[in-house]
Amino acid sequence: MRYKKNYETDIAIIGAGPVGLFTVFQAGLLGMKSVLVDSLPELGGQLAALYPEKPIYDIPAFPKILAKTLVDHLVEQMRPMNPIELLDTKALQFTRHEGTPYPLHLATEHSFQNKKDSIEVKCKAIIIAAGAGAFDHKKPPINNLAQFENKSVFYFVKNPKDFKDKMVVIAGGGDSAVDWAINLASGGAKKVIVVHRRDDFRAAPQSVAMMRSLVAQQKIELRIPYQPVGLVAAQHDDSQLRAVTLQHLDGNQEDVAADIFLPFYGFASSLGPLGNWGFTTTNRGQIEVHHGTMQTALPQVYAVGDVAMYEGKYKLIMQGFADAAVACHHIFPLVHGQALHFEHSTTRGLPNPPVA
Ligand code: FAD
Repeated sequence: MRYKKNYETDIAIIGAGPVGLFTVFQAGLLGMKSVLVDSLPELGGQLAALYPEKPIYDIPAFPKILAKTLVDHLVEQMRPMNPIELLDTKALQFTRHEGTPYPLHLATEHSFQNKKDSIEVKCKAIIIAAGAGAFDHKKPPINNLAQFENKSVFYFVKNPKDFKDKMVVIAGGGDSAVDWAINLASGGAKKVIVVHRRDDFRAAPQSVAMMRSLVAQQKIELRIPYQPVGLVAAQHDDSQLRAVTLQHLDGNQEDVAADIFLPFYGFASSLGPLGNWGFTTTNRGQIEVHHGTMQTALPQVYAVGDVAMYEGKYKLIMQGFADAAVACHHIFPLVHGQALHFEHSTTRGLPNPPVA
């Protein structure tokens, strides 16, 4: 277990996408502590998981910024607020304990290296910044997949340098598969093989063109129409991959040598257990909130960003940032027991960071 069993804080923030990250900062600016929970192993939500290398053009003050760079800036801005960051941790449900200093108890489940642990976050308010819901990786139906996870099988690339001089098999035909094939082939992997069922990639056309040019230069090998059907372990260590078994569409199988397998089949997302909390949700899985406060139908429970719905709502990062400010200002009296005297950040300055 990487974390403690219990935390006490002012606000539990569910979701570490761009809006959850900015919510940590807003809360801290108003002197409120937070615990940030995300089911993914890294910060950044959709920006990190779905399109890290894409430029965004509609973030105020940034004419053009890569999604991953925006995440870096948001992390740099929020970290001085000393949040507790619980990654690989899914929010499940909460219970009320009125009359206690921390009346909301959020139950979460932390998964790490195939072990699951319960963590409770006691707080005064919950802000849900869950986007489209908790992401779950779509995994290939390979029986022994789990025994290699986090050692030889990854659903994310955290640090491309980890794959230097490795033989890497990437499966999939979307942006992640193509972008990482290019990145790793150019970044020192010993060999990169891309496995896909058909010769039609759903990634950005310029990325597909770049990948094909690396194929022509023999820096990437394409295996089409194949799919991965098995993983072969090294003799000395059953979590260390030795080969990936590929099956041609005609049924023939062969093993290709590999140290690393990256199945990039995208994500499935859903509100999951949050959908049963009792607030009103739209048929698109968004939570209805009061626009003036971002409060849901449940007292002390707020929603911001893509997951929140009110008249005039667009799923835009900049609107999510404003949602975060509205929610935190409304929560201030709950935490501090006094009305907020509104001040600009230029006047207020950065507070002494709340101690986590
Ligand atoms: P998300 O980024 O979805 O993050 C939500 C986080 O909550 C996730 O990390 C998820 O794992 C976590 N979570 C959910 N449920 C739980 C749970 N129960 N427990 C723990 N964690 C949970 N927007 C723009 O403004 N401009 C653009 O140019 C733009 N381009 C885009 C391009 C693409 C390809 C895509 C897919 C989206 C684009 N968007 C763009 C939309 C933008 O990405 C979203 O508006 C933004 O990510 C919403 O941020 P969020 O923090 O609300 O949610």
